[in-house]
Amino acid sequence: MTFKVIIFGCGAATPTLQHHPSAQVVNLHDKLFLVDCGEGTQLQFRKYGFGFQKISAIFISHLHGDHYLGLVGLMSSMHLLGRKQKLKIFGPPALEQLIRINLELSSTYLDYEVEFTPTSDTEKILVHEDQTLRVFSVPLKHRVFCTGFLFEEKQRPLKVKRDFIEEYQLMPSQILLLKKGEDVVLEDGRIVTCDEVCVTPPPPRKYAYCSDTTYLPELAQMIEGVDLLYHESTFLESEALRATQTFHSTAKQAATIAVMAKVKHLLLGHFSSRYRDDQLFLEEASPIFEKVSLANEGLEIDIPN
Ligand SMILES: [Zn+2]
Repeated sequence: MTFKVIIFGCGAATPTLQHHPSAQVVNLHDKLFLVDCGEGTQLQFRKYGFGFQKISAIFISHLHGDHYLGLVGLMSSMHLLGRKQKLKIFGPPALEQLIRINLELSSTYLDYEVEFTPTSDTEKILVHEDQTLRVFSVPLKHRVFCTGFLFEEKQRPLKVKRDFIEEYQLMPSQILLLKKGEDVVLEDGRIVTCDEVCVTPPPPRKYAYCSDTTYLPELAQMIEGVDLLYHESTFLESEALRATQTFHSTAKQAATIAVMAKVKHLLLGHFSSRYRDDQLFLEEASPIFEKVSLANEGLEIDIPN
C-alpha cells in the first residue's frame, strides 16, 4: 500500500530561483492530499505530472502567504477544468472567510462543493477520518495561528492466507471470524486457529508535517514515533536568535525534536533564502539525528512498511 510524500516547494517566505514556497502532496493508499499551497502550486502539479482534480482534501497550516497564496488560484482552475467532486479544506478558522471574500469579490462561482473544517492551535484534534486513515491537526507555535498535520494509517485487519481458504474450504462467515482473531470449528470437528491461517499486517505508518514553528519541545509527545517527520529548518544555529524572534527553528532544533519524538526519518525544509547551500542544514542536523534528509522540489519520499 502506497504511503509517500512528494515535495512541491520547501522554500521560506521570500522568493528564490532555488526553491518554491511550501506545498507537498501526501499519497496515502492512492488518495492524494495537498499540504500547504504556496503561490504557483498549480504549476508544480503540472511540472511533476500530477492531476490536481485527484486531490480530495487540502490542509493549510497557517495564513502566511508562502503557505496559502496559491489556494484560490488552484480552486479556480479546478472549477475551470470541470471539477464536480467535493473539495475538503482544513485550516485556520479565518481561512474560510478569506476564501469566501476572494471568490465573492471576483464573482467566481465554483461548480463544486467546498467543505471547510477549522483546525485548532490549542490542542491536537482529529480533523479527518475515513476507512483507512486519520488526520490530526497539531498545534505549533508561530507568529500567527499555526498547526502541523499528522497523517496516520489505520491498523489493517488480519488476512487469511488463500492456501488455507482452499485447503479447509472456509466459508465467508468463517473467514470473517478468523479475521477477528477467533478460531473456527469445521464440520468434521477439526479446529482452525487464527494463528495458523492468518497473516498479521504490518504496523500502521505515520507522517507528521510541522511547518512553521519555533522550537517546541511539547511537539515531540504529540508526534511520537512517526515514520517520517517533515520539520521546518528555516535557519542555522548561527541565526538562532533570529529564529527565536521570528518563531522559526534551526536545523539543530529540528534534529533535537526528531530525537525527542523518536522518529524514524527526519526531512528538513522551509529553508531561508539567505543560505545558498542547503547542505549546511544537513551538516548541522546529522550529528544530532542520524537519518536526516533535505527536502527538494520533485523529491518523492516513500514511507516503507
Ligand atoms: Zn510562517
